[in-house]
Amino acid sequence: MAIQLVMHGAAGRMGRSILGLALADPGIAIVAGVDRQAGTLRDLGLASDVPMLTALPEKPGAVVIDFSHATAFPAVAAHCARHGMALVSGTTGVAPADQDRALAAVAAKAGALAAPNMAIGVNVVFRIAAQLAKALGDDFDIEIVEAHHNQKVDAPSGTALGIADAILAATGRTRADLVDGRHGHTGPRRKGEIGMHALRMGDVVGDHTAYFVGGGERILLGHVAHGREIFARGALRAARFVAGAGPGRYTMADVLGL
Ligand code: NAD
Repeated sequence: MAIQLVMHGAAGRMGRSILGLALADPGIAIVAGVDRQAGTLRDLGLASDVPMLTALPEKPGAVVIDFSHATAFPAVAAHCARHGMALVSGTTGVAPADQDRALAAVAAKAGALAAPNMAIGVNVVFRIAAQLAKALGDDFDIEIVEAHHNQKVDAPSGTALGIADAILAATGRTRADLVDGRHGHTGPRRKGEIGMHALRMGDVVGDHTAYFVGGGERILLGHVAHGREIFARGALRAARFVAGAGPGRYTMADVLGL
């Protein structure tokens, strides 16, 4: 049976991308888009008369995909919890404690998943980075280099931090072991630290490379994003997963069977 999908943040860059892919997927029935202006998906340039609403519909059993804004997230989660709707949220910037509390309420009734990066390849990289760090041990120096377009306002990227966090968790280290760039007389490299380096240039969508360098050899674990569709594909895969998984809190690792 087709999953019933409500897209919250439908008029945004991610919302449009997800709706475009969902319209072409016979396994997905789009119930509605939700954003600040009512109408139909035609207003977004999509070939569909599915309605655009300004408030979430009450549709028990449906999945809400949310790519909107941190300030909107609590009400979206509360609506899902109230009406037994599953939730897949890619919205970033929500305080972790608030996110946990809101997702727990949804998870009591339906599937709930939030991930700061839904790209399938990136989530596999998180897992492999953790495995590499653990297997290689203390004698390998780890450095993470990321590159993004020249309009990006923050550094390091959330994805670079995601790679770092996966390594830290796997090796019993903390964010205090991360070193942002290096400058001036830094002294020799401290064993166990992880250097984080950010390049900003042109229209790069997002490149990440983790270096694992031991005496006489190195491993480079890299990911290159070609476009935003990778996040949309991951979100739809997550939506299919939570729709079939029943109540509970899930991660992208669950979705990907990692
Ligand atoms: P965007 O600004 O293009 O779109 C956001 C949309 O949400 C807009 O159309 C806006 O009108 C709508 N919106 C905001 N508040 C709303 C509210 N209260 N009610 C209804 N609609 C509301 O942004 P984007 O690039 O599509 O990104 C959206 C979010 O997803 C951001 O938090 C971004 O960081 C995040 N993001 C996550 C991933 C991931 O893989 N998890 C990938 C890309 C972007």
